[in-house]
Amino acid sequence: MYSPLTIIELGYEDLVEKARAIALAGGRRHLHTTVPGCLITGSARRAIVLEATDEGAVYAFFDDRPIEERAKPLAILLHGADSVPDEADELLPACAAVNRMADRMRLGKGHFHIMNPVCLVNPHRGRWTVLFEDAELGVLESVSDERPLADIRLVERLIYA
Ligand SMILES: [Zn+2]
Ligand SMILES: [Zn+2]
Repeated sequence: MYSPLTIIELGYEDLVEKARAIALAGGRRHLHTTVPGCLITGSARRAIVLEATDEGAVYAFFDDRPIEERAKPLAILLHGADSVPDEADELLPACAAVNRMADRMRLGKGHFHIMNPVCLVNPHRGRWTVLFEDAELGVLESVSDERPLADIRLVERLIYA
């Protein structure tokens, strides 16, 4: 279930170019950022992972340095400016499970992934999964049928903080 994806490695500029082409074509796509040891890549390096859903292909840029700042323009390109939350946005309360994960993240105990229903690493395909890889507790999950907007906002704010 958590086997790492088969990934086509690209340089950063090529990944941006790829993202732009998919967005222009209107193809379904989404991003993940990963840390060393992440279940998505199984890699010791950090990565920006681009899933091109309609191609059934996964592209990634790997690096050792923190990657979130470089993921931001890609997130805007792929998902629109709304995907990078404004600090001024009001947050609706997240669910209890995701709040618990957020507390663990603030303690530096792990990292989040948001997995949509077509995400190739979603262990609950067809549903939304907010997943937290906790260094001590293992994998924590919150699964829902509807897009969990309040949870996603909280996670995005933590990721891009
Ligand atoms: Zn991970
Ligand atoms: Zn995915």
